[in-house]
Amino acid sequence: MSLKSPWRSDFPALSALTAEGQTYLDSAATAQKPQAVLDALLGYYASGAANVHRAQHLPGERATRAFEGTRTQAAHWLNAASPAEILFTRGTTEAINLLAYGLEQLFQPGDELVISALEHHANLLPWQQLALRRQLKLVVLPLDDRGLIDLVRARELIGPRTRLLAVSQLSNVLGRWQPLTELLALARAQGALTVVDGAQGAVHGRHDVRAMGCDFYTFSSHKLYGPDGVGVLYGRGEALARLRHWQFGGEMVHTASYQAADFHGAPLGFEAGTPAIASVIGLGAALDYLGNLDQAAVAGHEAALHLKLLAGLAARDGVRLLGEPELALASFQVESVHNADLAHLLTEQGIAVRAGHHCAMPLMQTLGLSGAIRVSLGLYNDGTDLERFFGALDKALELLR
Ligand code: PMP
Repeated sequence: MSLKSPWRSDFPALSALTAEGQTYLDSAATAQKPQAVLDALLGYYASGAANVHRAQHLPGERATRAFEGTRTQAAHWLNAASPAEILFTRGTTEAINLLAYGLEQLFQPGDELVISALEHHANLLPWQQLALRRQLKLVVLPLDDRGLIDLVRARELIGPRTRLLAVSQLSNVLGRWQPLTELLALARAQGALTVVDGAQGAVHGRHDVRAMGCDFYTFSSHKLYGPDGVGVLYGRGEALARLRHWQFGGEMVHTASYQAADFHGAPLGFEAGTPAIASVIGLGAALDYLGNLDQAAVAGHEAALHLKLLAGLAARDGVRLLGEPELALASFQVESVHNADLAHLLTEQGIAVRAGHHCAMPLMQTLGLSGAIRVSLGLYNDGTDLERFFGALDKALELLR
């Protein structure tokens, strides 16, 4: 089966990379952009850049309209109750840091913050550092053998001292949907705040934050086929109202004097300074592009590719898969082969995959590994990409064994 992607030609970078001999299988790190996003970026700059929320002039109004248009789109995309529940940040990392500072005053020494063993550093270090600042306890939910957060242990560990739960929807290493419904219900039952890291999850299907029942949900535009430099932080109205301001500067106050200031609430009160205007507009184009695709066809294509990836890995001796990935990616190690050597030989053959700890060092330690190779798929990948990858893998293993 050739597994052609009908969307590949929408992405100019794919033909450029192919012409260079590169096979791009690293979309979980960052995705290529469709022409529609490139057009939106160029369109904004070519028609006249202007700052948002400040100027009365035509370019300023036009930029503000487009910028706020993306906010409305993102609210619809996530089924937020209002565009005012959508904050633009630099990405998932900044969104979680914003929360770790903005919620800090709500916690008392001895309170517990709960994360899981599979978190990306972006959803670990901000909470770890907050715990150190405020003498809180960071509780880590363990995983089961399939790479799922263990619900039996979660029921024991989420308790009356739990003040916040922050977990990933989909792991960037293990590629499994986590049991969010159950976890969020456990946290809510304790009156704890809930944060969902949707950096990987947001890329696969649309998610309804109200149905999910979280207080905060965040993702990065660059993984969702949009420009880099921008992320979305959804906050449920009442949860947002509890956030303390964290960065201070232009366009976030009603009034300011030398002695004091009266800050805007969300979203503008949390978007001090000039935002990534072009990127926000480009994110709008990415959401438009994705919204117009046949979601079932995309999911079907990605699932077929993923099966081919798993089957190919399973057919090779000594390949150890990390967990039981169910979509989008597969991380693996090869018995008696050093990751760095394998990664080097794959790179030499033009295979763009990621090798290392994937910003999840504690997870790697838990799994008893120093690192792994990760192959990750985008909607533009096709069967030929995987054939090239397996051809290169076989050659590399022949040399290394
Ligand atoms: N969480 C997860 C699960 C991720 O995969 C990533 C990106 N690798 C992040 C958070 C951080 O995203 P960003 O670097 O865009 O802030």
